[in-house]
Amino acid sequence: MQVFGLIGSPVEHSLSPPLHEAAYEELGMDARYVTFEPEPETLETAIEGARALGISGLNVTIPFKRDALDVCEPDALARRIGAVNTLDFGSGNVTGHNTDAVGLTRALAHHDVALAGRAVVVGAGGAGRAAAFALADEGMAVAIANRTVERAHDLAGEVDGATGHGLDELEELLADADVVVNATSVGMESDEMPVPPAALHSNLAVLDAVYSPVETRLLREASSVGATTIDGGWMLLYQGVAAFERWTGHTAPVDVMNAALRARI
Ligand code: NAP
Repeated sequence: MQVFGLIGSPVEHSLSPPLHEAAYEELGMDARYVTFEPEPETLETAIEGARALGISGLNVTIPFKRDALDVCEPDALARRIGAVNTLDFGSGNVTGHNTDAVGLTRALAHHDVALAGRAVVVGAGGAGRAAAFALADEGMAVAIANRTVERAHDLAGEVDGATGHGLDELEELLADADVVVNATSVGMESDEMPVPPAALHSNLAVLDAVYSPVETRLLREASSVGATTIDGGWMLLYQGVAAFERWTGHTAPVDVMNAALRARI
């Protein structure tokens, strides 16, 4: 039996087990997806133990995404983003990857959003970093707007061609943008939105990384002006799809995984 899993804290309510196990069942794989919650100071021992036990792969979540960089061989993208969310034990070594980035671009592509033109990333934390690098790597001109403006400037300095801004510039930035990503936690379990409603328009594709609730106020307002909307469940789905495909070498049964996810969010 192959064992995969998630390491983080808390992991009790994670959607990753049903997402991955739906794929194992669909493909008739003898595999399980297990959650682990080690003490923060035991991360390195936990990962070494997982490798020794023959675990095939681990997703990594809060609070370990950054620290995991130091206990694996991160690929270039994970190193640039500064966070690992997928560990692969397949080669005998422990390699680290960031599938949030490809999760975002695959979510946009699934909705036929062209990855060209101007993107505005709101937020400069973990999700914002993944979004900014992912969209710049696709060739988009990226503007990063963040509540703490210094963080936006710092991130912009690391991302090819990006610019950093305060949230007060969002209306101007969105006027000629093609894509906007909410990579802040604003809207999570609340009816707030990080972007002024008047800045939304019908030529925008709006992706909200927040997936609880699935339909955030940002997506409601965006939908009401005729913008294309993509909820955070799609990014969550495709980061899992990318991890599954890396670990197993199989093409993921995306529809089945999506149905398992949608039944729970
Ligand atoms: P994080 O590293 O803690 O970053 C939080 C970001 O939100 C920062 O840019 C922060 O700005 C901003 N922020 C927080 N409160 C704010 C407020 N009241 N007004 C304006 N900005 C505010 O968190 P993260 O890991 O990037 O996660 C951000 C969101 O993305 C969460 O809702 C998370 O669940 C979601 N996410 C979704 C996926 C997915 O697959 N769908 C993947 C990853 C994350 P400051 O820098 O000023 O503090």
